[in-house]
Amino acid sequence: MIGAVAWFDAVPAKAAGPQCESDKRWLFPTDLSTPDALQSYGPLVDTPALFRTFADTEPTEEGFLTFVNQYGMLGTGQPALMPGNQFLMGDSLSRMESEHKALTQVVHMLDALKSRRVEAAAQQVAHPIIDRALKTGRYSELREACVHWLKVTINERMGNIGPEKGDPLITVLELDASGNLRLQQKTRSLLGALWVQCARAAEGDQVFRRCKACRGWMLISPDVGKRRQAIYCSAVCKVRAFRSRARKVIDARGVARKRGVK
Ligand SMILES: [Zn+2]
Repeated sequence: MIGAVAWFDAVPAKAAGPQCESDKRWLFPTDLSTPDALQSYGPLVDTPALFRTFADTEPTEEGFLTFVNQYGMLGTGQPALMPGNQFLMGDSLSRMESEHKALTQVVHMLDALKSRRVEAAAQQVAHPIIDRALKTGRYSELREACVHWLKVTINERMGNIGPEKGDPLITVLELDASGNLRLQQKTRSLLGALWVQCARAAEGDQVFRRCKACRGWMLISPDVGKRRQAIYCSAVCKVRAFRSRARKVIDARGVARKRGVK
């Protein structure tokens, strides 16, 4: 769900547990009165490369706010008390930082495994199995340790999303574009969707590429209508790139004319 949000000073409600007692800054929705203003989308289908966009996000209040304004709140569902004892569910800055750090390490590791240069990514990760493998200096052992770390990290994050924890995926009946009922997988929150996307990337050896026009990430897969050689994320970006090329040609002609070249 995408709607207006802002940072506030608040304290975690007791139920949130001691791990976030230090959380002082919270992202809350600012317009709770108008659910119509919220925009809904399915990140698993509509934006399968969103976890990479989140990893690219600057881990600051401003960076997170820009991301959330565009894609919605992470939906960690942490309860907090605002001054004046108003009780709200929000995303704390420290939780967002922690998820961002873990997700960035996972993205680096996925890329490193693909390019077969795992050492730099492995050194970023503090984990006893990886430390041991680094000491052996053997690639096969290090690779195995890195894959193990990926499995443990993604599983841990997927199982620890909201207050209810458990499976991040739920299966529900939804209407498809032609109005037929289809059994579909959904996540309870955007954070769940980001980690499930990560898991699918790890499982499926997926190929991601930046759009040549907007530099946004896209998943290259026949399932989402992107062919192996696709360079634009959308029809909008394709048209934009074509227009900008056409403009350059016109500008170049103008320059040539000024110089007296035909
Ligand atoms: Zn694009």
